[in-house]
Amino acid sequence: MSSVVSNMYLIKKWLSIFILAIFASFKALSYETSQPTRIFFLGSGSSESPWTELVSQGVRKNLEQSTPPYVFYTDHLDSGRFDEVGQYNVMYRYLKNKFNNKTPDIFISAGPAASHFSMEHPDLFSNSTRILIQPKPHDVNGIDGAVIIDTEIDYSSMITEAIRLSNPVTFFIVGDTNKPSDLHRLKSITQELEQRGIIYKSLENKNLTSLLKEVSEIPSNNAVFYTPIYREHEGKGLPPVFVLKELHKVADVPIFATSVTELGFGSVGGYLHSPTELGMMAGEAVLDIIKGKPVGFSHNGFEFVYDWNEIIRWGYQSKISDKAQVLNRPPSLWEEHKKEAIILTAFLLVLVVLLIILTIYNRKLKAVKNALSKERKLLEKKVDERTKELSVLYQEAEKIARVDELTNISNRRAFFELGELIHNQTQRTSNNYTVVMLDIDEFKKINDTYGHAAGDSVIKNVAKALISISRKSDVVARIGGEEFAVILTNGTRQQSIEMAERVRSKIEKLRIQFGQYIIYTTVSVGVAEYQAEEISVGSVLAKADKALYQAKETGKNKVVF
Ligand code: GH3
Ligand code: MG
Ligand code: MG
Repeated sequence: MSSVVSNMYLIKKWLSIFILAIFASFKALSYETSQPTRIFFLGSGSSESPWTELVSQGVRKNLEQSTPPYVFYTDHLDSGRFDEVGQYNVMYRYLKNKFNNKTPDIFISAGPAASHFSMEHPDLFSNSTRILIQPKPHDVNGIDGAVIIDTEIDYSSMITEAIRLSNPVTFFIVGDTNKPSDLHRLKSITQELEQRGIIYKSLENKNLTSLLKEVSEIPSNNAVFYTPIYREHEGKGLPPVFVLKELHKVADVPIFATSVTELGFGSVGGYLHSPTELGMMAGEAVLDIIKGKPVGFSHNGFEFVYDWNEIIRWGYQSKISDKAQVLNRPPSLWEEHKKEAIILTAFLLVLVVLLIILTIYNRKLKAVKNALSKERKLLEKKVDERTKELSVLYQEAEKIARVDELTNISNRRAFFELGELIHNQTQRTSNNYTVVMLDIDEFKKINDTYGHAAGDSVIKNVAKALISISRKSDVVARIGGEEFAVILTNGTRQQSIEMAERVRSKIEKLRIQFGQYIIYTTVSVGVAEYQAEEISVGSVLAKADKALYQAKETGKNKVVF
């Protein structure tokens, strides 16, 4: 039965693997036949620009979540380093050559310079769909079907957040007005502040030295708003992050900047322009274009994001939403020791489990011990009782072994045991003992005349008479059917003969009632005395037996010594 079940299971398993394999090969085949989408990404700055890198990452992050096959090419315009227009021409020839006859399907330009380049050369990849990541209001004309991802900073929301956090008396605005686009941006900020009636002061077009001096003198109840458009110092281009770092060193007020890339270099953060978010928007556009759907976005390029160190420095913790991102936060104790904590917890758990098992086991052991101890006590009690019983039985058996059943006097065995003791004792001292032996005369006749029971009764009466005449120290025994023997100690020969005579005489006078009969009987008695050469009580008894024999021979009912 179980083998049938396991066979069924195997068949099911292999069938599902087979179906999956077919499905997978179809899928692979369909990818093989559809050409991968060629995506070309052109950044405005250098390949080291963190902004461009984050945008590019955002694009790919969104693409990788989906599975259409694509090829991703990247180039950088390096607009900051060279003369922009001259660079355009070089880049144009380079790209024309690079993509020769395999032009990209989608051309993404990140930043104003790259986007400007893209629009200046509509003939470069005439069949490509263009995605421009750049501020919307300027320079966009002439390219139909281009998707624009607006990188214009939302100054209004950004300033709202900066004021909410720092509540400054005066806003100090750092920026340039040399280029029309920069001027436009600064105007957006100042207009916003004017509309809200917030006092501000513009630190425009300063060289770095005087800018740093002025910022260092700003009283602490104010704030700085830094736009990343401060570009030159002593004829040299300055990366925005460098300027921000310098400002941060000297300022005694919070500095608000516009992009996520500036976090960690002195900017507090807030409602910021996120290059990753912008990239993800471009990614969404790419996916829609591949699928032939109208382009739509689920991101807007902004997010609430802050720098942990600045938040702590200015005490803004309570003012920040739980949902907001806080970057550069040092790892919490938990994050830092997560592994150890997990191992420790697991270890403790194992310990607790072991403890529980041990406790249970211990309890069971105790229960077993208790049961065993009870059992043992019971057994001991039983053994005790049994031992007592046995001892009583033994004593009884001992008694039975030495006592004659019919007459309740010592039997033949007891006679010899006690006799031996007396004999040995006598040998050690100069004492004496005498053995008196009796045999009922004509006993057979009694049995034959009155029956065996009557014979028994006669035996009992003779024993009684014998006991009544003997002393306590005498050994009185029935040593055969109707034969008795008495050992008399500490008496003279004469006393023994007299005792024997008294016995004979008493028995002669007995009137034994048995039923309707009165029975008479006599005994013959042999007496023998211990002599020094005697080896045992047996030899004294043998002498008494000889004397008894003589008594029988010479007429019975008499004592012979
Ligand atoms: P004697 O005078 O020569 O001793 O003659 P007797 O009849 O006593 O002869 P004997 O000693 O040979 O006979 C003993 C008889 O006692 C034999 C036996 O049947 C009988 N007897 C032995 N033990 C018992 C007993 O316990 N009860 C009874 N009723 N009879 C016994
Ligand atoms: Mg006999
Ligand atoms: Mg006899």
